[in-house]
Amino acid sequence: MRTANLGNRLVLVHEDGVVDVERASDGRFSSDPQAVFDRWAEFTAWARTPAAREAERSPLEEHRLGAPVPRPRQVFAVGLNYADHIAESGLDTPAEPAVFTKYPTSLAGPYDTVELPSTMVDWEVELVAVIGARAHRVAAEDAWRHVAGLTVGQDLSERRVQLQGPAPQFALGKSFPGFSPTGPVLVTPDEFADPDDLVLGCAVDGETVQDSRTGRMVFPVAEQIARLSAVCPLLPGDLVFTGTPAGVGGARDPRRFLAPGEELHSWIDSIGALRNQLAAGPGHPDAPGA
Ligand code: ZN
Repeated sequence: MRTANLGNRLVLVHEDGVVDVERASDGRFSSDPQAVFDRWAEFTAWARTPAAREAERSPLEEHRLGAPVPRPRQVFAVGLNYADHIAESGLDTPAEPAVFTKYPTSLAGPYDTVELPSTMVDWEVELVAVIGARAHRVAAEDAWRHVAGLTVGQDLSERRVQLQGPAPQFALGKSFPGFSPTGPVLVTPDEFADPDDLVLGCAVDGETVQDSRTGRMVFPVAEQIARLSAVCPLLPGDLVFTGTPAGVGGARDPRRFLAPGEELHSWIDSIGALRNQLAAGPGHPDAPGA
């Protein structure tokens, strides 16, 4: 099953169009794309009924897609989770996941324009897991049962802010407005032949800069949920950004960062792709009036 946020309304996405969930369910489920995660099991059971499967379609107007999870209560992110990215960062493989947050005000839709606050904004394509059932102290072998679905994300990172201060400011450097685009759809785990091994990558203005597989994670999705939930209860609708593979701009020689006018294209097989145009925002030397 695939769901999306179309103009701030929850829809089911089919090959031949979308179904508006509130209308097709006669109001049983809210139109709010965030509200559904508190009733995810009930919702997925309804979505399999003939009433839902045969409901009237309307066209998928892609430009109206927003973040599939617009207002998560918590956003977790794990750094240094692919061996090749750890190597390019010149660090050792961590014994524990390197966890930080991206504040929810940084969320953006799959085709939104992102304003760059400086000349040091880097790309990080990531698989994002969405929680569908409260998870507290769950074992890795039970973790997938707490996942509503998977989507594509970018963990955009301002490298100067990220690494400044007495301890690196990961949360701030990765939370400027627009720094967490996600989408275009949420795909339930049962849709994948192997949800633990998906091809992911990204391109800047058509040049592929990251190209890997999620099977190369140091801590796979289930292990991350086990480790995070050992401390924090994970709540329905929470996001987990699961780390990025090699190929970030800050590790290149010479370093390369995103520039106004470029397009960042990020994809994961069997889910879809984000296409974010980049513009000069307040703080950037090319911004109007700067
Ligand atoms: Zn990241």
